[in-house]
Amino acid sequence: MNRGECLCGTVRYEVDGPISMMCHCHCSMCRKHHGALFVTFIATPVKQFRWTAGESNVRTIATSDHGKRAFCITCGSVAPTLMPKIDCAFMPAGNLEGDLGIKPQNHMFVGSKASWYAITDNLPQYEKYPPGFDAPDNVRPAVTGRDGFVLGSCLCGAVVFEIEGTPQRVMNCHCTRCRRARSAAHGTNVFFKSGQFRWSRGEQHVADYKLPGARFFATAFCKQCGGELPRVSSERGVAVVPAGSLDTDPGMPPLAHIFVGSKASWFDITDRVPQFAELPPSA
Ligand SMILES: [Zn+2]
Ligand SMILES: [Zn+2]
Ligand SMILES: [Zn+2]
Repeated sequence: MNRGECLCGTVRYEVDGPISMMCHCHCSMCRKHHGALFVTFIATPVKQFRWTAGESNVRTIATSDHGKRAFCITCGSVAPTLMPKIDCAFMPAGNLEGDLGIKPQNHMFVGSKASWYAITDNLPQYEKYPPGFDAPDNVRPAVTGRDGFVLGSCLCGAVVFEIEGTPQRVMNCHCTRCRRARSAAHGTNVFFKSGQFRWSRGEQHVADYKLPGARFFATAFCKQCGGELPRVSSERGVAVVPAGSLDTDPGMPPLAHIFVGSKASWFDITDRVPQFAELPPSA
């Protein structure tokens, strides 16, 4: 049995093994919802899943005629989705604790992958769903870039933002907080100066969540769709942008994997980006 919980800890659940399906998804809907460059799901028969707390804190929204997505209304973490018709419970692996007894089996929706992300492992890659998985698909149209700006938005499109110029740095963070906040194998955070950042539309839909007891750790998300959004701190002078919320290439690859000491056991780092158990010595 494995336990799962959202960043704020309100929404909790358990899943019984064995877990037979685990996939990385690169679709633009998942990237927007999680704020991650790719996301990782497990699926089990519905009877292996149960809520243990906070089910009433989960909002479920229809994202298409056939698709729905769920999130914690307090912290924005992605929550499990149950599909009784196909007897499937889908859970974001980033919110689960411990060894899952399975590792990712493939990459799906590689056809709508972020063009600035490169897959470096040897797992099978599928344009859409893996063969035999018969479900309708749904991806967002690509956004046209604008010279000198990095553009982004939430899943439902209510919130749109733009950033002028290039990032200060880009980090893949494997800490438990980032994994729970992005509901993914790791967060990819793009740092800008707050002065570079501007909400173009829908700022009133942005919810902030600051983790109690944390010095800085905070997230932001769209109240309507749960899509992860930039957290702008004028006091610290930084805008921390979840890479998955971007619509265009930020123009800088990740410089480091940080907090690799608390990495998910099911995720193997296969790129050549430098790794640090916590922070790089210079940080
Ligand atoms: Zn929560
Ligand atoms: Zn997806
Ligand atoms: Zn939204």
